[in-house]
Amino acid sequence: MTVVYNRVALIGLGLIASSMFWSIRRGNLANEVVGYARSKKTRETAKRIGLCDHVPDNLEETVNNADLVVLCIPVGVMSEVVAQIAPYLKAGSTLSDVGSVKKAVIDAVEPLVPANVHFVPAHPLAGTEHSGPESGFSTLFDNRWCILVPTSSSAPSAVERLTNLWTGMGAFVDHMDADHHDLVLAVTSHAPHLIAYTMVGVADDLSRVTDKEVINYSAAGFRDFTRIASSDPTMWRDVFLSNKDATLEILGRFTEELFSLQRAIRTEDGDMLFEYFSRTRGIRRGILEAGQDTEAPDFGRSLIDKK
Ligand code: NAP
Repeated sequence: MTVVYNRVALIGLGLIASSMFWSIRRGNLANEVVGYARSKKTRETAKRIGLCDHVPDNLEETVNNADLVVLCIPVGVMSEVVAQIAPYLKAGSTLSDVGSVKKAVIDAVEPLVPANVHFVPAHPLAGTEHSGPESGFSTLFDNRWCILVPTSSSAPSAVERLTNLWTGMGAFVDHMDADHHDLVLAVTSHAPHLIAYTMVGVADDLSRVTDKEVINYSAAGFRDFTRIASSDPTMWRDVFLSNKDATLEILGRFTEELFSLQRAIRTEDGDMLFEYFSRTRGIRRGILEAGQDTEAPDFGRSLIDKK
């Protein structure tokens, strides 16, 4: 593959940034990748495992002369970091992010971006419940979607170049506007995470009554909830606070559906339950056919080729 950017700077060195680094290296998509995390501990870990070609101790050096800077940090701190790096961004360079919410990020970040820098927000729809610099792997984005959310000030040439990077990392690229992105993600990711957090919380309350039964006899369904509910608390707190309206809208609809299922159980309406579950089974089949998951009960993770 051909080099897309000479120098890429990754701010934050967690799951997404480390996966980007291994993937960029795999595809030889940049001549140099520089990385920064706020804690010395994470920077030391990055140096020990060879994550990034260079790991400076400050933001100024990290973004210096970078052709692409990617914010791989929780959405709640993006504007604060952009305010710090703005004076040091190279003229003509691109600033992007990987945040799970787009409207709040664009509203907070775009006014801080210098006029001679292209801002192209993005969100790779790929992840695991793990976090930190050692959790990344080169194949995370393979056959996953990356949504680009260009703003009115994103130059088409900058969008095209960023598209080349994401396709080089194995992703399919699509474009959406920010509001639509946030609504789609509220349905497919944010509300399901909240439901998983709730279900595990309920089971935890129960476990005080039934001792270890919840853990010892946990069925696959509950185990999948616990996997999702072990995701990073900072990241998810920020997601809900910054995608408040869309998440509340979807949770309102969820509650209505839950009530109708509750009613069907109480009134022993087996036909309603059967039809409902047949419809949802079809959705699962569609996801498998689109290659977005596997039949394997571990979601294919044992097959993941680390780095
Ligand atoms: P992560 O593994 O928890 O890593 C977050 C990184 O950000 C850490 O290296 C942390 O540094 C750094 N950081 C936090 N605050 C910072 C600050 N103020 N200045 C500089 N660095 C800071 O997170 P992640 O899962 O990679 O998520 C990163 C972004 O990707 C989030 O915006 C998230 O919404 C988005 N995203 C996540 C997923 C997913 O499934 N995880 C999927 C798609 C998109 P320290 O280690 O020093 O604390």
